[in-house]
Formats: sequence, structure tokens, C-alpha cells
Amino acid sequence: MSEHPRVEIYTKEDCSYCEKVKDLFDSKDVEYETYNVTGDEDLFEEMVERADGRKTAPEVFIDDELIGGFDDTQALDETGELDEKLGIADADTGIEHRKLVISGSGIAGLTAAIYAARSNNEPLVLEGDEPGGQLTLTTDVENYPGFPEGISGPDLINNMKEQAERFGAEIENGVIADVDDSSRPYRVELSNGDVYTAEAFIAASGASARTLGVPGEDDLMGYGVSTCATCDGAFFRDEEMLVVGGGDAAMEEANFLTKFASKVYLVHRREKFRAEDYWIDRVQEKVEEGDIEIVRNAELTEIHGSVEDGVDYAELVRHPEGYPTDKLDDPETETFEMDVGAVFLAIGHTPNTDYLEGTGVEMDEAGYIQTEGGKGGGQTETGVPGIFGAGDVVDYHYQQAVTAAGMGCKAALDADEYLETLEVEAESGATEAAASDD
Ligand code: NDP
Repeated sequence: MSEHPRVEIYTKEDCSYCEKVKDLFDSKDVEYETYNVTGDEDLFEEMVERADGRKTAPEVFIDDELIGGFDDTQALDETGELDEKLGIADADTGIEHRKLVISGSGIAGLTAAIYAARSNNEPLVLEGDEPGGQLTLTTDVENYPGFPEGISGPDLINNMKEQAERFGAEIENGVIADVDDSSRPYRVELSNGDVYTAEAFIAASGASARTLGVPGEDDLMGYGVSTCATCDGAFFRDEEMLVVGGGDAAMEEANFLTKFASKVYLVHRREKFRAEDYWIDRVQEKVEEGDIEIVRNAELTEIHGSVEDGVDYAELVRHPEGYPTDKLDDPETETFEMDVGAVFLAIGHTPNTDYLEGTGVEMDEAGYIQTEGGKGGGQTETGVPGIFGAGDVVDYHYQQAVTAAGMGCKAALDADEYLETLEVEAESGATEAAASDD
């Protein structure tokens, strides 16, 4: 019998956040019980009741106290409260020095870790808010070279993690709160108060799902509003669902949700989709089968519902020329309601670079890191020597798994060159010092 408090986790099948929350407890060597709610109505009802009406998995309980989903559990971990609740709080707050710290464990960070570990740079990967990155939230990845039948996003990430660890990379749970580049080595502070110093740093912390900021969205997040169809779609079986967005993610999510929904409405703010033809064709097939209906030139303005009963209906506006919220006073703008039971937002991402504010790393208005780019070596260099950027924190254009991997590789090679230069400088400094002593 474990000496820790009782940890219970409600899970479901195909749930990346369920795997993440289990990984979090595994990393602490804490035992837990899991209850899989997939296909078990009674267990599902029990989970919803214990979780104060939330219809999303995982749901974590410690000694019968509701902790919440992965985000809630991780937030507690960041403040050290989780360890306190588990009775494993560690008083040691010593600063650890590392040759190379990589922020983010998505494709870019893990590829950087594979290359850096093979160059003996002993990388420490800090997993960040979204361990495994965005690919852990997708289903099949069919365009990553080398997998003719496709591969699931979580499998691809797990393979990369294993590969990085095989060469000696360390991968730890932790969210960076601040990087201080005012002295060398750089100081990297985590939100749980842990501090590392690092000779080199690769920012590969990706991007997070954007939300609309409309009334009802925040209150109903987890109660029928979601940014992850693969995570939550199955909980709204046989309901009508609404997906917002016109990019690949919106198309993929709408397509995926047809497995559960009685009907999916794909709402886009203008006439033309930005998604690639492959996804537009897949969606068109579902439109012809009657599973998806496209609502163009429309925007969501409010989501109505309650924590107890979930989403009741959505309020939208439409204008024949698109972007209706910019034309609310125009007589051609009409307001209408849609009687849907769930709303999925797929409107792109914002780069996770807040922790670099205050450093010399240059970023654009949206927060994307500016790197050297161009041809030849040093393409991933930022303006700060020893700090490099890779993946979706830099790339607002291509944003593909394979391009993120490529940039991760480049960042590790650039970091290796930098670290070697540091070593050479340190050695010649030591030789000069020894010579002046003679
Ligand atoms: P994108 O930026 O490509 O698309 C975002 C969509 O959301 C756009 O259609 C945009 O409209 C719409 N949007 C943004 N803000 C708002 C708002 N405030 N209100 C209403 N609509 C809004 O993001 P994605 O996440 O779709 O894709 C990101 C990258 O990931 C892309 O490179 C894509 O190719 C890739 N991807 C690939 C997949 C695959 O192939 N399997 C799956 C998912 C993503 P507008 O068009 O008017 O700007």
C-alpha cells in the first residue's frame, strides 16, 4: 500500500491529456488508480458528478479532492502545491548548472535534443505547458516523411522522446517563467521556483491554441467549449457541434468530429478557406454525405449555456462579404442562433515566448522570435549569443511537423558550434592565464 494520498484519475481512450497527466504522476513515482470512462455510461456519469459537471477527461482527485484536468494538475505542480498534497515536497532549492537547456518537448525541441545529445551537449529538455507539443493533440500525421501509412501524433512524439533519451537527453516536467540574459551563464527560472543556469538555450516552446474572447467562452471551457476535438469530441456524442476556423486544423477537427456528432457546422469568417486542398476535399465529401454543413462569412459572438448543462446555443453574425463583426452596424449584417451542444475553436495559435520578454531576444508584434535565417550556419541564432529559436516560436508560415524538426536540428547544430567556441575561448583563456603566471 502506498504511503501517498490516494490519487484517482478518470481517463478515456485516445486522450493525450490523460497520458500527460499519468506521465506527470509517473515522473514523481506516485501510484494512482485509473478509471476508463470510454463506453461506460455509469462511470462517465460518476466522473461528471464528482467533477462538478465538467465533461472532459482526465479528471484527477487526490484524497477525494477534485484537482481537475491536466492543466489544473500542472498548474498546481508549478507552484509546488501538488508535491505538498502528495506529501513529497522537497526543500532543496539549489541552482543546477546545465550546458544546454531546451524549452519545449514538441517536434522541434525533441529533434534538437536528439542532435544535442549525440553531440555530447547533455541537453535538459523542459517539457513546458503542453508536454509533447501540438502533435499530441492530433490524430493521424500523414505527411511526416518515412511513415507511408501515417503515424499517430502521440506515437511520433513518444518515439522521438525515446530516441532523445537513448542518446542521453534528460526530459523533465517544468514550465519556464523567466530567462535572464544579463549575465553568463544564463539564468532560467521555472514557475515552480526551480532555477537552472545554462551556457546555451534553445527556445522551442511552440504555440498555444488561440481563443475568441467572446462571452461564455471562458465560463464554458471544459463544459462544452474546447480547443481540442480529439480530446473532447467523444463526450458530446449525437449532439450538433460547431467548429470555428478555416485552416487545416478546423477542417481536420470538423472531419474528425463527424464520428460522434449528429451534425458538424463549420463556421468561417470569410468566403475562402485557407486550408490546403487535401482537407477542403475531405470536408466537401462529408458535406455531400450530409455530415458537415459549412457556414461561411459568419462569426461567433456569444456562447450560451451553464456549467450544469453545458452549451445550450451559440449566437453568430453573418455578412455576405465576410468579417461580420467588423460590420455590425451594416444593415446587411444578420444575427442568428445555432442550437449546438459543443463548440470547438480551431483558429490558430499564439507563440509561447512570454518568458523571453526582458531579454535581448528580438520578437515581432505577435511574439514570434526573430532569428538570423538566410543561408549558411547560424540560421537559428537570435540577437543574443547562445540563445537559439526553433519551430513554431519562430515559424508563423510553414508550421509543419517536418519543418519544426528541421529547425530543431539546425538549432542543435548552431548551439553545438557556439558551445565549442565557448570551450575554445575558455581553454585559450586558461592557457594565457597559465603563461602570465610563469
Ligand atoms: P491557421 O492560422 O492556418 O488558420 C486559422 C484559421 O482560423 C483561419 O482560417 C482564420 O481565418 C481563422 N481565425 C483566426 N482568428 C479568428 C477569429 N478571431 N475569428 C474567426 N476565425 C479566426 O491555423 P491552423 O491551426 O489551422 O493551422 C496552423 C498550421 O498547422 C498550418 O500551417 C497548417 O497547415 C498546420 N496544420 C496541419 C494539419 C494537417 O495537415 N494534418 C492539421 C492542423 C494544422 P482567416 O483564414 O480569415 O485568417
